[in-house]
Amino acid sequence: MITPRETHLLRAPTLRAFQHAIVDAVTGCIEASRPAAVLTPTRAAAGQLQRTLAAASVEHRRVALVTRSEWYEWLRGRHGSCPPLLTPVQRQVVGAAAAAEARAAGCIPPFRLRPGIVAALLAFYDQLRRRRRSVDAFERLLLDELEPSADLDRGARRLLLQTRFLVAAFRAYDRRIDTRRLVDEHRLRERLLAAEPLRKVSEIVVTVPDQVADAAGLYPADFDLLARLPRLERVTVIATDGVLDSGFRERLDDLLPGLAETRVRTDGGRPPAVVVPDSSADRPYFVWRDREEELRGIARRVRRGVTADGRAPAAAAVVVQRPLPYLYLAPSAFDAAALPVTPGDALPLAVEPYAAAVDLVLACAASGFGRGPTMELLRSPHFRFETDGPPPAAGAVRALDRALAEMRFSGGLDLLSGSAADWAAETETRRAAAGALRCVLALAGELRPLREPRPLAAQLETLRSFLQRHAAPLDTGEPGGRAGEGRALVWQGLEALEAANRSLDDAGREVDVVEVTSVVRRWIESRTRPAGAPVEGVHLIDVQAAVYGRFDDVFVAGLVETEWPGRTTRNVFYPAGLLAGLGWPRERDRLRASRAAFRDLLGLADKRVWLSTFVLEDDAVVAASPLLEDLDGFVAERVPAPDHDPAGAPGDRLGPPGDAGIGRRWRALRVGRTNGSRAGGARASGRAGRQPARAYTVSALERYAGCPFQYFASHALGLEVERASEQTMTPEQRGLFLHRVFESFFRDWQRAGRGAVTLATLDAALERFETAAEDALGALPPIDRAVARGWLLGSAASPGLAERVFVAEIERQTGVVERLLEYRIDGRFELGSPPARRTVAIRGVVDRIDLHADRTLRVIDYKASRPPDPSRALQLPVYARCAERQLRAERGEHFRVTEALYVAFGDPRLQVSVPGGDVAAAIAEGEARVVALVEAIEAGEYPPRPVDRLRCMTCSFPTVCRKENVEDA
Ligand code: SF4
Repeated sequence: MITPRETHLLRAPTLRAFQHAIVDAVTGCIEASRPAAVLTPTRAAAGQLQRTLAAASVEHRRVALVTRSEWYEWLRGRHGSCPPLLTPVQRQVVGAAAAAEARAAGCIPPFRLRPGIVAALLAFYDQLRRRRRSVDAFERLLLDELEPSADLDRGARRLLLQTRFLVAAFRAYDRRIDTRRLVDEHRLRERLLAAEPLRKVSEIVVTVPDQVADAAGLYPADFDLLARLPRLERVTVIATDGVLDSGFRERLDDLLPGLAETRVRTDGGRPPAVVVPDSSADRPYFVWRDREEELRGIARRVRRGVTADGRAPAAAAVVVQRPLPYLYLAPSAFDAAALPVTPGDALPLAVEPYAAAVDLVLACAASGFGRGPTMELLRSPHFRFETDGPPPAAGAVRALDRALAEMRFSGGLDLLSGSAADWAAETETRRAAAGALRCVLALAGELRPLREPRPLAAQLETLRSFLQRHAAPLDTGEPGGRAGEGRALVWQGLEALEAANRSLDDAGREVDVVEVTSVVRRWIESRTRPAGAPVEGVHLIDVQAAVYGRFDDVFVAGLVETEWPGRTTRNVFYPAGLLAGLGWPRERDRLRASRAAFRDLLGLADKRVWLSTFVLEDDAVVAASPLLEDLDGFVAERVPAPDHDPAGAPGDRLGPPGDAGIGRRWRALRVGRTNGSRAGGARASGRAGRQPARAYTVSALERYAGCPFQYFASHALGLEVERASEQTMTPEQRGLFLHRVFESFFRDWQRAGRGAVTLATLDAALERFETAAEDALGALPPIDRAVARGWLLGSAASPGLAERVFVAEIERQTGVVERLLEYRIDGRFELGSPPARRTVAIRGVVDRIDLHADRTLRVIDYKASRPPDPSRALQLPVYARCAERQLRAERGEHFRVTEALYVAFGDPRLQVSVPGGDVAAAIAEGEARVVALVEAIEAGEYPPRPVDRLRCMTCSFPTVCRKENVEDA
């Protein structure tokens, strides 16, 4: 039997009246000692409501302020015997097992079953159930719609396959949950409706609209719960006129029939004035260059209010649609104005540095312990690798990096372990690197299981144990112990994932490191870390939270087209037309509600409201929000901003006024230094004084030619080039991989006594190449393997790189008698012609030198993409000259250089010779350039002078070079 209950609707004309109505409703519950809950859209909104209740001296602790999901937990707690709800991690495991079961039963989905798809599948299931659609109804509706056109329409056929898969997966999920007597939100709702609670719930105050009007709102199933929950005596819905008139009122008649409507009185206060940039302008909003300038501008405004009028920072709120980008910018923008900030939302766990460290371990395993990720792992401050003694010293790690670069190592544990034995007796670099290599081999041994297919729980255990075993000691002086907390959260999360997979995954699936990475990343991205101790600062909150707070000044920021009105997350399975038949809201209704919520927001502040937009996002132009187009009827009063500074103008005053003098002095000092530098401050403009001669690699000389300061930063200062941690092969790794495969093939070919590849030997060459390629491909992560195989070996439709290289060799008809592979140049060479002739020590490795029967040679350099600009490239001419001289010294024979070419795998021509094919002229010109470059290096000339400004965009040292001094080449 359903308990009779009163259902009230309180209609508030403004947000301030809406807040008064909530305060009165909570007071009424407390005074009547009615156990009650107040439903709010988010935790941040509940936090703001707590402040508002506290300001009205209402002891809110006796009433639960809860979000929708917390409300279910709260009801479960009052119900008595109901077991705990499944956690999101546990549901994901059950969902993945159910999806695998559906697939194994022959319902093949038209997509790959990745962890992200499983999460979307569960979200879709929840949406259906919350809209009171059963799986049977879903199946019937969709099949009726799709089956008639499936034979004629490929799109409909694909949707049909997908529907059959989803239905099978949902049924498998239901079966698993029911057989194990597990409880999710939907089973809990059934239990709550079926039995009386142990502890009575007298009143629920609903301050959120439905899910059409607000993405965090209530669903039809929630309203059904409100209508039928046993022993519930009273339901009070509170909403503003704007939201109710946007369509919510009509929907409420269906959701909660018999509502008694009462109008809430206005609070009688004046609506806030809208602050405009300039009283003469017709635009009642501020326009900034980008988000960062916008936030800095707001911080300056708040600072002025604090200093001039004694307002508390907490009397201001910055209201945004998407808090995350603003949360990232807030520390720098508000610190500069010496203002504390109170964020409404917690930051995602993904921004914790330790989350990046976990990614590093996975990238290292996925890349087959490639050089980049391995070096980053060894250098990461989050780990301390004591594998067979103290951790490798920084010098040993640097030496290992150099040694791996020299051997063009792009990954492959077998290759690494194979060469380790010889290292102790080899070059100085390798000897210095031997300890670090042993450490890498030990770590690779621990992580090797991740690369093999194993159950997910076992993979997660391997990862967690690695992280815990090698964790660096925490810095005890760090404020708030943030690093320790972030680390503990990640470990606990991995443990929960592991436990859920052990207990609930009975599908016995085996996964490799790619899927482990995907599961771990998804989990990290879905988590937030709890906010620290609250501070009373400027509130940085979203719209949903803002409507519950009281502020003198409200800054509505980020009013751009892509964010206001807010977007809904697109359904990945079905188009809007099909979803409408399943009860999904229509876009038109959602937009009407968004506009109404925005207009309400304009009246939220007690005193002033400031609106702002920006024009650039990630250097792309963005349009202002359409909501700014029809403000006229909704702005009661406009007041011009006192002395508005356009962004970046000379009056741009950061920091509190007490700092203004310091600011001015700092600015004068900086401008003076810059001017002084230009006027002849030699050291500041990149002159370092005479430098001693040294051995140069050709790539270092090319780097100097590209930008002298870049050379100085990496070769004189020894700064490391930043390497992004890549999941797939970087261009550099691709180049190294290619070098390795071709070197291995030609070495093997030569060992078999073969010379030039000819038409007669082409098939044999391709066969041998395939063997060499397969060995190297085995060391690549699966994600790269298929692409690299097609690239090297080709397909039925197009030849691979190997065939193109061999055919080009056959067409050139060279009589190769010997190939020198990875030929090492190391010596002092006389270069240039008088008067600019001098000795230069040169080091380097030539990819290939072909010696011909007629005592000529050709020099070949492999390029993974296109050949370099001939006006800057030095490799071919310098290598040709040095190889000719070194060979004569080594063998006593003279080979004349007749050809120098790039085999450029990304160039349609494939083989590209020196300009005009005139080798002698190219060598002479290259020698002269080397001499000039070496003279400049030794004269200590290191200005930041990029050969073109595009180079700065990919440079690793933009924060080191004095950008204001950059010279044009
Ligand atoms: S940022 Fe530009 S000027 Fe500065 S070092 Fe790099 S390339 Fe040279």
